[in-house]
Amino acid sequence: MSAQNPIEKKSAVVGSEGATTRPAAGSRYRGMVRPVRTIAILGAVGALVGAIALPAFASANGTAGAAPVTTQRIAADNAQSIVVASEATQATSERSTFTATTPGEIEAKKAEAAAAARAAEVAAAAAARAAQPASSPSYAGYAMVAPGSGLIRYPLLPGSYTSGEGPGSGRGHQGWDMLAPQGTPIYASMAGTVTGSAESIGGYGVCIIIQSDINGTGVESRYGHMVYGSRLVQQGEQVAAGQLIGMVGNTGNSYGSHLHFEVHIGGGIVDPESWLAANAG
Ligand SMILES: [Zn+2]
Repeated sequence: MSAQNPIEKKSAVVGSEGATTRPAAGSRYRGMVRPVRTIAILGAVGALVGAIALPAFASANGTAGAAPVTTQRIAADNAQSIVVASEATQATSERSTFTATTPGEIEAKKAEAAAAARAAEVAAAAAARAAQPASSPSYAGYAMVAPGSGLIRYPLLPGSYTSGEGPGSGRGHQGWDMLAPQGTPIYASMAGTVTGSAESIGGYGVCIIIQSDINGTGVESRYGHMVYGSRLVQQGEQVAAGQLIGMVGNTGNSYGSHLHFEVHIGGGIVDPESWLAANAG
């Protein structure tokens, strides 16, 4: 188009705005309108092609050593577009399981699906809770090892208990009752092998029994009335002196939260309170 034709130039600029800008009367302009619009359309198509092709060209040039943009390469890009389109079609067909047609029905279907998802979540949470004892307590913040360096330790930390009834009370009591709030941490008094660990051992309730060797002497310690689900060691495991093994509770033949602690040496019981006072360090 040459600058010598002012009509063509003017129409090319305003052509996309349509009939209102078209010259109204002059018959000598009438023949010019169609070719001018065609040129404008071609120009628009050219702009579209440029908009599509230029980014591809730019991205190809942005990579060092990239292959030049060829017809084959553009065809490959188009093929990728076709793959994306087929995936989109697949997703659409999956969504077509919704047969609702009105907005209200669609909302109802969505609510139904959301309710089903929530029910599944609740069921999963319930299953997770069932997998472990409902009363399984948390040990967050507990010291895993009691302070001290001796072969024999107090099973409860100093200051975490008050002294209760000892053995020899006439009713067959064989241990020392260490009165402490539910959840107070219990530590192995001595290193050894766990010979008993269960949620119910007779009147001991939740109980752990540990067999130890103290300078060639066999010593058995028992920890009774612990919290359900609080046992951290199982039968056959080795424990270290001062290792966290459970929590003070009120299970078995017990009427108040306390640790029933027994010490057996050579087949007989000893008074744990005085024995610990003489040997613990
Ligand atoms: Zn007791």
